[in-house]
Amino acid sequence: MTQPDNYYTTTDSGAPAGSDEHSLTVGPAGPIVLHDHYLIEQMAQFNRERIPERQPHAKGSGAFGTFEVTQDVSAYTCASVFRSGVKTDMMARFSTVAGERGSPDTWRDPRGFALKFYTDEGIYDMVGNNTPVFFMKDPMKFQHFIRSQKRRADNNLRDHDMQWDFWTLSPESAHQVTWLMGDRGIPKTWRHMNGYSSHTYLWVNASGVKHWVKYHFITDQGVEFFTQDEADQMVSADTDFHTRDLFETIAAGDHPSWTLKVQLMPYDDAVAYRFNPFDLTKVWPHGDYPLHEVGRMTLHTNPTDNHAQIEQAAFEPNNVVPGIGFSPDRMLLARVFSYADAHRARLGGNYKQIPVNAPRCPVHSYSKDGAMRITPVTDPVYAPNSKGGPSASGFTGQPEPQWAADGQIVRSAYVDHPEDDDWGQAGTMVRDVLDDAARDRLVDNVVGHLLNGVSEPVLGRAFEYWRRIDEGVGARIEQGVRAKADEPDPKKDAQGNPARSSMQEKA
Ligand code: NDP
Repeated sequence: MTQPDNYYTTTDSGAPAGSDEHSLTVGPAGPIVLHDHYLIEQMAQFNRERIPERQPHAKGSGAFGTFEVTQDVSAYTCASVFRSGVKTDMMARFSTVAGERGSPDTWRDPRGFALKFYTDEGIYDMVGNNTPVFFMKDPMKFQHFIRSQKRRADNNLRDHDMQWDFWTLSPESAHQVTWLMGDRGIPKTWRHMNGYSSHTYLWVNASGVKHWVKYHFITDQGVEFFTQDEADQMVSADTDFHTRDLFETIAAGDHPSWTLKVQLMPYDDAVAYRFNPFDLTKVWPHGDYPLHEVGRMTLHTNPTDNHAQIEQAAFEPNNVVPGIGFSPDRMLLARVFSYADAHRARLGGNYKQIPVNAPRCPVHSYSKDGAMRITPVTDPVYAPNSKGGPSASGFTGQPEPQWAADGQIVRSAYVDHPEDDDWGQAGTMVRDVLDDAARDRLVDNVVGHLLNGVSEPVLGRAFEYWRRIDEGVGARIEQGVRAKADEPDPKKDAQGNPARSSMQEKA
């Protein structure tokens, strides 16, 4: 790489730095001096390099790309990002949920599937997962759920007993736990997994016609997974396997893509649909609402500074654009508050001015000042005003994507759904979606998980939990755990003490 003549190290202020190797000292053998401001700058910046990691979804990476609309969906939404033929710059971040920033990519866990579209009507974020459902339906339980998946207070260890304690006391988790313990609980790479909005959103077209919508980003690479053994081996072979795979694949010119398909439910269907259409623990069976193609997203450009462009990327479900609105899904409504709140706490109040988060359309907001403000504001700084400042005009003539909070739709969705038990859709997956081999792997995965530190009374509840999902699978899981629990543990001696390894014997 040829460098310009003036390519010398500078301080952060741009002035030439004296040395990359030596501090400023009093003579060759003397102490360093306080006015070596470049040394102090180096130390001070280093001390401030780390920012709080995300809670949860700390470990992840991503890339930049383009979303291109391939089908006409103007009958359903007037959002410009989904207008026929439109191409929009976007970025994606994939992540695990429970692990910390240095944790292995191939732990069994759902994966975050967060997308940011730089549309001409503002930023649109689709903050989904690689699963169409989630562990709970009420945001009151979210914090408790994440704590149960992370670390204990006393020994700072993750604890399967704690995880199953929470799950078995929260039967609404059954569908997602079934999904997690199956093959898709460990994707082979981020390229080989689907992404789902999971939540139901609202689309409105230019005439004001409304549909409920669920997004499915179907991988064009095909769904592939790691078995538990393969993933365990990968944990030690390459902790960052998924991160490396995405970066190296894109760097080699092989650009992964996903086809966006949506399920569309006419607005009034929500009243009488057999499942609560806003329940995050349920899917809409394809037979009820088939998939319609919308377009394709392709990731083609790697970040050049992972911290600035990925670690500081702030996704928030409240970033919607005209033509797209929320639904009465209580988890979604809570996220609409809590994600932006998390970014303010983690990145600072002006985080939307960090380039990766900044809109690519004009911004005329009345937000002002605060730490690290980059973009100057102009007068007038208040509204209403008679000084020529912008004035809010709703959706600039487009219909508002709103639903009536006191209406029949919400009432009937949450009160009157006899098919809305916690076990049914999980059972359908076990019986009708998985083949024999996939079902065997599911049983093995659960047995292995339960044998890793789950004790009574949680263990008994776990057997009952699986029986309620599927009697046969539940019985096999209990049998598998009881049989293996009776086998001698190779890590313990006859007295139950930790066995000495052959290396220790030799020593
Ligand atoms: P379908 O037979 O039409 O669809 C089943 C879907 O299951 C497939 O399309 C595929 O989703 C997904 N799938 C396949 N293998 C696995 C696996 N190992 N782990 C998780 N998902 C898998 O049936 P229905 O739509 O009637 O749904 C039946 C059950 O399938 C549901 O109860 C739910 O558990 C599960 N499911 C349904 C989805 C939906 O949105 N309807 C989505 C995903 C799972 P994909 O095409 O997205 O890859």
